[in-house]
Amino acid sequence: MASTSTTDRPNLVGLTRDELAAEIARIGEPAKQARMRAHQLWHWIYYRGAKTFAEMTSISKPLRSRLDENFTIIRPEVARHLLSVDGTHKWLLKLADGQEIESVLIPELDRGALCLSSQVGCTLTCRFCYTGTQRLVRNLDASEIVGQILNARDTIGEWPSLSSGRILSNIVVMGMGEPLYNYDNVAKALTIAMDNEGIAISRRRITLSTAGVVPMIERVGHELAVGLAISLHAVRNDLRDTIVPLNKKYPIEELLEACRRYPAGSNARRITFEYIMLKDVNDSPADARELVRLIAGIPAKVNLIPFNPWPGAPYECSTPEAMARFAEIVNNAGYSSPIRTPRGRDIMAACGQLKSASIKERRTLGEQALDDHRLA
Ligand code: SAH
Repeated sequence: MASTSTTDRPNLVGLTRDELAAEIARIGEPAKQARMRAHQLWHWIYYRGAKTFAEMTSISKPLRSRLDENFTIIRPEVARHLLSVDGTHKWLLKLADGQEIESVLIPELDRGALCLSSQVGCTLTCRFCYTGTQRLVRNLDASEIVGQILNARDTIGEWPSLSSGRILSNIVVMGMGEPLYNYDNVAKALTIAMDNEGIAISRRRITLSTAGVVPMIERVGHELAVGLAISLHAVRNDLRDTIVPLNKKYPIEELLEACRRYPAGSNARRITFEYIMLKDVNDSPADARELVRLIAGIPAKVNLIPFNPWPGAPYECSTPEAMARFAEIVNNAGYSSPIRTPRGRDIMAACGQLKSASIKERRTLGEQALDDHRLA
């Protein structure tokens, strides 16, 4: 059985190849062999999804037991697993210190995206976001971010890493937290995920979403070269100051300037602007026209996201007519502007909802209805 309990033995999940080799050298393997052993461990952990050292049959038995005495291969513990009628998976994962995070897998017919959390909670307090109402915040370490991918692959049985036809084909860093306030751990985890001999999800299939931590955006382009998504949500600074308070630090002009300079930005790799549709707040035709004016010249697409309400939320979702009108204006200006279909509504798949429900002692009205879909 895979161990999920807290232990003193270091977890090998989330280490780089060099760090793996150093750990192996530390338990007495000669330096030359440590590299080869690191290569083998990498293969077992990230290509085959091994949960125990015992199953690593290409490694000698004595070394396997020594590894087992010294290390673990731990994923976050699944506290709850919900499966929506539309196929969306949502996990509430419990970390070694008892904190909880969420990840969501949204399958399409022949592909699918896993939405990763980067922090426990979030410091940004965006007004439409449920995660922003949760008090406790800490960064996830690389093992906790990579562990979310391993866990999803475990559930859908996509081991060893398939070369095509995967359901977990894409990664979006769009879950709880602000990834650019936890850059080092997110970068490390994504670098592991992109490695061709392991999880092997290419940078072209990874998108990182930020509320706009302007000074970090250039590094994302240079060092990771993944797709960039910007949670824009408003076209005027006075309004954006209110709904995305980070705007007071990095206003719209500076954010868009960073997007114009984004190294990975090109027609082949457009920047995604996320725009949440809030009734009578940011959804007028004038807002749509201003959006088009603001992003002129940036290779971009616009994702219109219907607001997903939560108890006590200060907003409502725009009407279908308002959303369609908005989309048409953006579309006529030459930008793809799909209205994202809500997925997993029956399992509270929007950011932070499941964890908040869990905090409320798992007995809210909404959750009663979920029990039909509850798997674990
Ligand atoms: N901090 C990062 C990533 C997490 S939020 C960022 O801001 O981009 C990712 C996306 O979740 C945001 O763009 C927002 O559109 C969406 N989101 C959060 N709460 C939502 C809600 N209640 N309804 C719809 N979308 C929501």
